[in-house]
Amino acid sequence: SLTIGIVGLPNVGKSTLFNALTRNNVLAENYPFATIEPNTGIVPLPDKRLPVLAKLVHTEKIIPATVTFVDIAGIVKGASQGEGLGNKFLANIREADAICEVVRTFVDDDIVHVNGKVDPADDIDTINTELILADLQTIENALPKLEKDLRGKKVSGEYVAAVNEAKTILEAGETIDHAAAAGKIDKNAIYDLHLMTAKPFIYVFNVDDNELQDDAAKKKLADSVAPAKAIFLNAQFEADLTELDEDDAREMLADAGLDESGLDQLARVGFDVLGLQTFLTAGEKEVRAWQIHQGWTAPQAAGVIHTDFEKGFIKAEIVSYDDFVAAEGSMTKIKDAGKLRLEGRDYIMQDGDIVEFKFNV
Ligand code: GDP
Repeated sequence: SLTIGIVGLPNVGKSTLFNALTRNNVLAENYPFATIEPNTGIVPLPDKRLPVLAKLVHTEKIIPATVTFVDIAGIVKGASQGEGLGNKFLANIREADAICEVVRTFVDDDIVHVNGKVDPADDIDTINTELILADLQTIENALPKLEKDLRGKKVSGEYVAAVNEAKTILEAGETIDHAAAAGKIDKNAIYDLHLMTAKPFIYVFNVDDNELQDDAAKKKLADSVAPAKAIFLNAQFEADLTELDEDDAREMLADAGLDESGLDQLARVGFDVLGLQTFLTAGEKEVRAWQIHQGWTAPQAAGVIHTDFEKGFIKAEIVSYDDFVAAEGSMTKIKDAGKLRLEGRDYIMQDGDIVEFKFNV
């Protein structure tokens, strides 16, 4: 499954955040097949629709979609040259599908900052520079063979031009993700280089309580990484929240003036950045959110439930979540209201589709 790698300088709150994410992990029961590595956290995607559906179809069992986070060892200056855990951490980042960069803005004199001062922009620069240098190495290693293949007409001129374009961007100190968002380069054109900075980035600013309420300060930080997504949370607060039962946690959130935990926000944004979406099934046995890629067709979605569903796909019977709720979950009412849609092989799944697949065995 797709994973998000958590990176950042030492002492910025990565472990605190990661432990909160994994303690939040109530899924072991539903995912007995998932061998959970110690550095891997599987986190439920918050979805307010699921309990509503469960009530309507009279089931207790809810299976949410999930987001997988991998804790990657701290990055230090020189990592791309093999400093610290250099090569190991680079290999781990290569395996991740998106990057969650934890940046410290909280000030605490008891907690040493590796660079001696709390300076988010400087920290981001340090980390991104290491990733950029590693990507430049990848390109420099690839180019001699590419030039040769170009002479032998084994690769296209457009491809080599795109690789050189990527090199220019990186040399100017910009990540490929950032440049692509600004329309300077097409990520797909250089996909097979598997560059680290071409992965989607999420920035998590580990702020203190005052800053969490300071919209101007947050906007400034968000703007500094835009168009990448920025999330603001207090990792210590999030860790404390996971120690509480649901009611107490909600009360503590409300007291802090928040309507959603930072972990829930991170799961939602992470899911989105990975290009995922859900469709829903609702029956007496269980209510479940299934994760698929955005843009997938009905047969592809069917295949997530069972490969036979994809092979023998006939059609999908679909009700939108809103129509299902309006009809109080009654299929008779849904049909009478003309809200049951029959969709064929080419149908592109929409978020919130409640689906029953019809298939040949
Ligand atoms: P890592 O090296 O990035 O994994 O950082 P840790 O999660 O181990 O955190 C380093 C220290 O900072 C620990 O003592 C944490 O308790 C503390 N810490 C983490 N997050 C916060 C925070 O939001 N506020 C404050 N004041 N301390 C924090």
